[in-house]
Amino acid sequence: MSEIGKVLRMKRFKMTDPEGKVKFLFETALGNKYTLRLTDVSMTGLGGILQSSALAANENFEMGMLIPSSKITCETNEFTLGRLVLRRFSQNGSEVSVAFSTIDSRIPVDGVLSRYLEVDVDSKKSAYDFELNPERFSVLSFREVNQTNVDLFQKTEQFKIFFEEWQKSNKYQYYTVRLPSKGERVKLKQRRKGDRNDYLVASSNDYLGLASHPQVIEAAKKAIDIYGFGSTGSPVTTGLTAAHEELQSTLASLLKKDDVMLFNSGYTANIGVINALTNAQDLVVADVLAHASIQDAMGLSNATKRFYKHNDLAHLQKIMDENRASHYGSLVVTDGIFSMDGDVAPVDALSKVCRQNRSRLMVDEAHSFGVIGPTGLGAWEKFPEAEVDIVMGTFSKICGGIGGFVAAKQDVIDWVRHYSRAYIFTVAVPPSTAAAALAAIKLFQAEPERVAQLHTNINHFVKGLRYLGCTIPANHESPVIPVVIGDEKKLGLMNEIFRDEGIYVVPIVHPAVSRKQCRFRFTVMATHTTSDLDYILNVLEKAMLKANFTFAKDAKNAPGQEKSVAA
Ligand code: PMP
Repeated sequence: MSEIGKVLRMKRFKMTDPEGKVKFLFETALGNKYTLRLTDVSMTGLGGILQSSALAANENFEMGMLIPSSKITCETNEFTLGRLVLRRFSQNGSEVSVAFSTIDSRIPVDGVLSRYLEVDVDSKKSAYDFELNPERFSVLSFREVNQTNVDLFQKTEQFKIFFEEWQKSNKYQYYTVRLPSKGERVKLKQRRKGDRNDYLVASSNDYLGLASHPQVIEAAKKAIDIYGFGSTGSPVTTGLTAAHEELQSTLASLLKKDDVMLFNSGYTANIGVINALTNAQDLVVADVLAHASIQDAMGLSNATKRFYKHNDLAHLQKIMDENRASHYGSLVVTDGIFSMDGDVAPVDALSKVCRQNRSRLMVDEAHSFGVIGPTGLGAWEKFPEAEVDIVMGTFSKICGGIGGFVAAKQDVIDWVRHYSRAYIFTVAVPPSTAAAALAAIKLFQAEPERVAQLHTNINHFVKGLRYLGCTIPANHESPVIPVVIGDEKKLGLMNEIFRDEGIYVVPIVHPAVSRKQCRFRFTVMATHTTSDLDYILNVLEKAMLKANFTFAKDAKNAPGQEKSVAA
């Protein structure tokens, strides 16, 4: 093994390229293109120098920002990298030093690139040393280990120091424990002002409030009596039950597809279907903001993976122009409603691009099934002219439960049933879950007023937010409503106020979103009352004032009355 070979797993390298044969080309989400002179690389990151004069006027390099498209060119070779994250940006006179770490791929330091690499012995001057700087760390900071022959748990011990600080800060609000209670009013183990523990939920995915509906609970209890606690095995080894079968056929007829198969979660459904259908010669292209389960599914797939800029059809077409002809099959994947921003994908236009490029389209309807479209069936129903080949969904939103599903034509479902490792090598959804989901879907069908009430509530809340000066895009129609704060200190301060005033909402921080996009992600339920929503808005206003926000209040959206109910 070469010297480089021996150390490549553990070292960083300095570039030795006086003739400039190696270039790193990247494009930011704003579409600005840059060429970086590489100075150092490792298997999972690279750094280099840019001329400040090359920076586009509208560019805003911020720590954690995502680079959707990039490649290294080396002599006649070209290496396309997946997405990257910005890890260093420091300007020094006419030069800017920039470093990125990879998300989807490894840097090919063992190929032709190795001719230009020299082991970096001065590890003290690592490009990534800033990671332990408390001003900049996040959970992302502890994933990479830059030393050889260390204890595997070294990183967990470093994380512990960060975690203790994080828990003490006012930004930590995760993994709370619910005491016996359900619905939109819950009791948590965590105490709040006045030694109380009652909270109004503003972060639940149980949009229609069906998780605690008596008929849904009854259906689960009955199925436990009939079938016992669990499925007792994978669908391959112990089969399914009549409850599963009825759920599958009900969904297939609702979604107007030949057949439906059930996975034990939405996450597994995405892993299962994308990996069953794609091979090394295929192309999978997803929106850069597609859900983590889609991105993880792509990470597992051997196919060529590409990401298009958020809802950007021209960029999708460009990716097709560059890649489609050299691949066998092609799959485009998008969320119907995006999980962090709550916006809707242009499924009709995506479908057109797919047809023009002989690509199949898969829509993850996790947040849109039960919410949008003429009868609430999802983005595929909202855009009737679209051809959606694979509809994926979950029971974690439409009824606040668990379990995923995939709907498609018969031969596709038959294929996935026989080729999906995430279907075959894991236990089936419990019969009680299937029965409860079926009861919930029947209620959703029989009582369309639930979806109507959800939209009334969404509109009321959005109107209130606009009145407070929050920017919410026109036509917002999803229960996921982000309020971007953009400053983690303010976010922490506001989080304390929400907790004190009994509102259960979680702060979303880096790396789930970039630091300048840190936010509260409110979710509205059909079972919230108008006064519940007004109370949340009142507390938000109070929190904004405390955090020194400037308002541009919009009188057009002034709420009728603002009552306090939960205090
Ligand atoms: N897709 C999207 C768009 C999601 O938001 C989620 C979960 N929030 C999932 C898939 C995973 O679904 P589940 O929670 O049912 O595993």
